[in-house]
Amino acid sequence: MMNIPLSKPSITDQDRTHIENSLESGNLAGDREYTEKATNFIEDNFGAKKALLTPSCTHALEMAAILLGIDEGDEVIVPSYTFPSTATAFMLRGANIKFVDIKRETLNIDPQDLERKITDETKAVAPIDYAGVSCEIDEIMDIASESNAKVVEDAAQGVNAKYKDSWLGTKPAFGAYSFHNTKSYTSGEGGALLVNDEEYEERAEFIRQKGTNYSKFKRGEIEKYEWVDIGSSYVMSDLQAALLYSQLKRKDEIKRKRKQIYQEYNKQLASLEEKGYLRRPRIPDNRESNYHLYYILTEDKKERTDLQKHLSEKGISSAQHYEPLHTSKMGKKMGAHKQSLPNTEELSKRILRLPMHTNIEKTQVTKISNTIEEFYRRK
Ligand SMILES: *Cc1c(COP(=O)(O)O)cnc(C)c1O
Repeated sequence: MMNIPLSKPSITDQDRTHIENSLESGNLAGDREYTEKATNFIEDNFGAKKALLTPSCTHALEMAAILLGIDEGDEVIVPSYTFPSTATAFMLRGANIKFVDIKRETLNIDPQDLERKITDETKAVAPIDYAGVSCEIDEIMDIASESNAKVVEDAAQGVNAKYKDSWLGTKPAFGAYSFHNTKSYTSGEGGALLVNDEEYEERAEFIRQKGTNYSKFKRGEIEKYEWVDIGSSYVMSDLQAALLYSQLKRKDEIKRKRKQIYQEYNKQLASLEEKGYLRRPRIPDNRESNYHLYYILTEDKKERTDLQKHLSEKGISSAQHYEPLHTSKMGKKMGAHKQSLPNTEELSKRILRLPMHTNIEKTQVTKISNTIEEFYRRK
């Protein structure tokens, strides 16, 4: 019986060569040759003003929270339908988190619900780009600026995807990328903070390098470096940056392959949607996806459980996704579960992710689609 995993990194001999090169350099700490290469690549290809490689997207979000001066009792708005890091990064600074609902079309933050809930106390808004499809970033930035709130785009899933003419993560004050093993371009663990507002550039370097001005020293701007600020070790190892650089150089090849799989699923599952059995994902106009995920929406939770079991019996992995943060164990502790976020509550129970990675063949998409069709035929 064949087994089709949900996700799997795309690793080639080119990746191995760059890792070997890094090992041979004898310089595996951060901010060496490969960090510079990967950083320049992100800045040049995605038009980011300043990119800083970090150990994870979570750490990049934490840096953004420090840079914005988020303090005890400050209000920060995040979607409930996201990974916990979007909220915890700000909670570590003492923020009060306010959760908002999502749009049915993309499962991204709903600007109308944001507009209802934002106040003059709101210091930051942190939308995500679910499945590599952009949130309504222009609208979100307009709404935030009316309340003088800054936007931190959690573009963990949005690397190499666009909204109109802009690469995701490059429009608001901050963007955060993830290069975790499950993402489309990976360094095992890893991330980047995109600093799009010059005001924060200098301090971002201090905070990343343990509160020192090491980065200036490294560029030869000062003779020795010293302690100048608070900070932590938000630095990625050059060994990981070597893999990241190689993966980013392969970005078009990886995206092309994922797009083929996405389109094949879309084609093969079209008739099931036409018959009203399931809903396929949507990519609205003006957006270019990186095809990070492929998912379907079932009728309800029970149907999802049954379908998942049916797929599993045929060796096909599938998965639900985020448990809404406001009704999670932590959300209940915060009292956030008392509010109702209808789209989040409904859609999180209906979503089923299907295998998506570069090692999937067209015949496997056919096998998966046929298995889904068989399930609905039997119902
Ligand atoms: C993956 C992911 C994260 C966490 O990324 P790490 O690099 O593992 O810290 C945060 N937010 C979203 C939306 C994600 O998809």
